[in-house]
Amino acid sequence: MQISISEVKRQPQQTLAFDERISFPEWDFLGAHAVSGVEPFSVKGKVYSLDRKLWIHFSYEGMVHFVCDRCLKSNDRLLKGEVKSELSDVDEFDVEWLVIRDGHIDLTEALTDDIVVHLPIQLVCEETCKGLCPHCGLNLNHEQCNCNQEQIDPRLEGLKNFFK
Ligand SMILES: [Zn+2]
Ligand SMILES: [Zn+2]
Repeated sequence: MQISISEVKRQPQQTLAFDERISFPEWDFLGAHAVSGVEPFSVKGKVYSLDRKLWIHFSYEGMVHFVCDRCLKSNDRLLKGEVKSELSDVDEFDVEWLVIRDGHIDLTEALTDDIVVHLPIQLVCEETCKGLCPHCGLNLNHEQCNCNQEQIDPRLEGLKNFFK
């Protein structure tokens, strides 16, 4: 979604407020996570001038449907965040500000960049999720299997025989 900022650029005393909903037809940007859907994000903010520079400040929130990385249970996560960034016409490699192209700011790009940076490395149903047993596939949140007991560290094998 593009926002035209030419008005604010021409008249620095103006503030451009926006309240948008951004949809993601594709969610490849969420990377390796098993995402099954992303609901439209609500994005509210403004573009304004300060100290002869242009700024954008917005907050966002949206629901992501995913499968827990550990136990494969379907889950929802409300992603929330806030972005405050300088705007500039100067487009160089790896800049910290948002680049103005043809008098517009790409709000979708600014939003996805922030989501990607703040997304946890693992998307889990709960931090304490025990996941599935790698040997028998049992969901360890509900049941305890015997696989761990059977797996004896080879270095302790000698000790086991010793106690027989
Ligand atoms: Zn889980
Ligand atoms: Zn097991």
